[in-house]
Amino acid sequence: MSVTDAAYQKCINPDCGAEFDSAQTLFRCPKCGELLDIQYNWDKIEVPKKLSEFAQRWGSRNNRLDFSGVWRFRELLNFCEDKYKVTIGEGQTILQQSDAVARYADMQPGRLYLQYEGLNPSGSFKDNGMAAAFSHAIMVDAKSCACASTGNTSASMALYAHSCGLKSTVFIGSGRIAFGKLSQAMDYGAQTIQIRGDFDDCMRQVQDVCAKLGLYLLNSLNPFRLEGQKTIMYRIIEGLGWEVPDWIVVPGGNLGNSSAFGKAFYELNQLGLIERIPRMAIINATGASTLFDLVNDKKLTWNNGRVNRKIIDDYYAGLTARNFSPHTCASAIEISRPVNLKKCLRAIDVTKGVVRKVPDEEILDAKAIVGKYGLGCEPASAATIAGLRHLRAEGIIGTDEKVACVLTGHPLKDPNITVNYHKDRQGQFSNPPIEAPNDLDEIIKLIK
Ligand SMILES: [Zn+2]
Repeated sequence: MSVTDAAYQKCINPDCGAEFDSAQTLFRCPKCGELLDIQYNWDKIEVPKKLSEFAQRWGSRNNRLDFSGVWRFRELLNFCEDKYKVTIGEGQTILQQSDAVARYADMQPGRLYLQYEGLNPSGSFKDNGMAAAFSHAIMVDAKSCACASTGNTSASMALYAHSCGLKSTVFIGSGRIAFGKLSQAMDYGAQTIQIRGDFDDCMRQVQDVCAKLGLYLLNSLNPFRLEGQKTIMYRIIEGLGWEVPDWIVVPGGNLGNSSAFGKAFYELNQLGLIERIPRMAIINATGASTLFDLVNDKKLTWNNGRVNRKIIDDYYAGLTARNFSPHTCASAIEISRPVNLKKCLRAIDVTKGVVRKVPDEEILDAKAIVGKYGLGCEPASAATIAGLRHLRAEGIIGTDEKVACVLTGHPLKDPNITVNYHKDRQGQFSNPPIEAPNDLDEIIKLIK
């Protein structure tokens, strides 16, 4: 029996439910246009009896798949044979307990953990998904790939593309991309096409271009990418000594991460590898709050897969009517039409999730706190800490619950935001440089 028999693609629409071989390159259900999932025939896969058995792979980490923070959990995303699996050393991340950040968020000491996905090779969580999606691209013999990106996706795709010998094309919006991320796409050799429009415009164009030219699409519409992103949750559990936290807090942009996390926990629970599913909090920026608006104001739910399409269509028609373009300093989540919306609703259902939105000022202050007391992060990542403060103030998250915030990107992804925050004294934690005359005594007086 080949390994590919263990996995297949399935439409998430319960009224369609069409199934396709995992060796096909589809991205949307050809029958109804809905999103596709990767599903597994678990009885055909030898899954460890306990999650802690994965720890044995540390002893054999000179094997490239055992070293990878994605593939050392390969039985849980077993859609291709090992010979196709791509890795550039992703997933060597840190789960850091931070009492100083906990204090800022009104949590008790020892209860808050920060998952630093910025430590991945391209500096963001995207590398988890790219390791998986490029493995599928190699399996289907793709030669050229493309994505639309607010930045992190393009950086990650460009890095994996040249590592695997594929050509890559990045679509970005004009003027809405963080400097560090754009520098990576160009440096890693991707062809970069800047479209006069925002991310949602880029997303529409890239899908059409990929369909017309037969390019392999690497946006989070790609269901294989989400399989890789599941491993962020496995590593949090690993970091907690193979125990699940009470809460996962994640930024909400295109909603690929939250979708993947919900799927990860659902599968682990089905397999009997965890006894309870943690709750998830998804944090929007106030200037890009589609999920918040739909879930909290419009009461949109998963509804066993029969999502009320009219609520979404009406909401999007409203955005179009007032010519709305999302705006937040957290460019990674500056998205108003999230591609994975329905999968995210399913994840909210599975995790009894909540959605909050936070203004840019709170994101920037929280970012400064993560920088001052932790390893730093990009603005979108800090939305988690800002959101956690809201959920603490509301009493939704208890002060003694165990919380893991997913910090999605490295602080150097967006240096301009950081420099401006400190130099221009934009927030309460600004730490600007002090000007000094070129005089030893005067300089010494200034040193505290
Ligand atoms: Zn379908």
